[in-house]
Amino acid sequence: MRFFYILILLICFNCQETNTNNQPVIAIHGGAGIILKGDLSIEKENLIKEKLDEAISRGYEILKSSGSSTDAIVETIKILENSPLFNAGKGAVFTNSGTIEHDASIMNGENLNAGASTGTMHIKNPITLAHSIMTSSEHVFLSREGAEEFAKLQNLEIAEQDYFYTDFRFNQLEKQQNTASKFGTVGCVAMDINGNLAAGTSTGGMTNKKWGRIGDSPIIGAGTYANNKTCAVSCTGSGEYFMRSVVAYDISALMEYKDLSLKEAVYKVIHKKLPSIGGDGGLIAIDNKGNIVMDFNTPGMYRASINKDGEKNIAIYLE
Ligand code: ASP
Repeated sequence: MRFFYILILLICFNCQETNTNNQPVIAIHGGAGIILKGDLSIEKENLIKEKLDEAISRGYEILKSSGSSTDAIVETIKILENSPLFNAGKGAVFTNSGTIEHDASIMNGENLNAGASTGTMHIKNPITLAHSIMTSSEHVFLSREGAEEFAKLQNLEIAEQDYFYTDFRFNQLEKQQNTASKFGTVGCVAMDINGNLAAGTSTGGMTNKKWGRIGDSPIIGAGTYANNKTCAVSCTGSGEYFMRSVVAYDISALMEYKDLSLKEAVYKVIHKKLPSIGGDGGLIAIDNKGNIVMDFNTPGMYRASINKDGEKNIAIYLE
């Protein structure tokens, strides 16, 4: 009898250990850049905030019902990719040759597995491709036609280029020849109830990009990084500088090797290292205790978060 009593106690203790140790935490961004109060109409501001709210609420719901951080990231980013408001999926920017080419990446902080794709033109939700590369191939990074061939084998949803067309982005190409689009890349970082961290990023890159240009977003370590030892990070901004600064991994390395807190590490990179070489942008990050940091060196960054206490925060400008 005593044996059964001890056994039941042990089972209960074990359930507590493995199931609900952590409150889920999630943060998203929809790009950083030069945007000042008054630049956006109230209607557009509301539309953006509503979409951020819808996306983060969906991700949080998945985490609350014991979904993994990677699953939450895929579903959250899909909502942003399906919206014409962001430079990812449906609303992605035009290249110099008038095409739309997507980049995406995802990383699992539990096992350091990762997947990424670049230059795809017919994948409706590029984050699902990055996720499939991570889970169903022995590779990390696939490009262009090869990546699309793999996506078809995985039965991912295909879309024609017309689907991605928006007047807004087409006008940007016409007006902004040779300049960068500074808004709209999307990203998500999450911690699930098992304490596993993950990060994902999806983008159309920069307006008017040419020669098969690739930015930081699909590059593991530059635009996206996750490691349960330290943190999960998704970046947005001038990709060339984020690549040269290896921003996402640098945050993790500063925590791991220099014992900086997440906040200190992000401050050092976003406000010191990156601007010292001319880089602008921001990032969202969660550390392995569930602390959230959303910081940027531009006037604004579309962002939202839900912390350990379930408190939601949605913002655009510097507060
Ligand atoms: N980082 C992205 C890129 O360089 C653009 C952005 O985040 O706005 O492709």
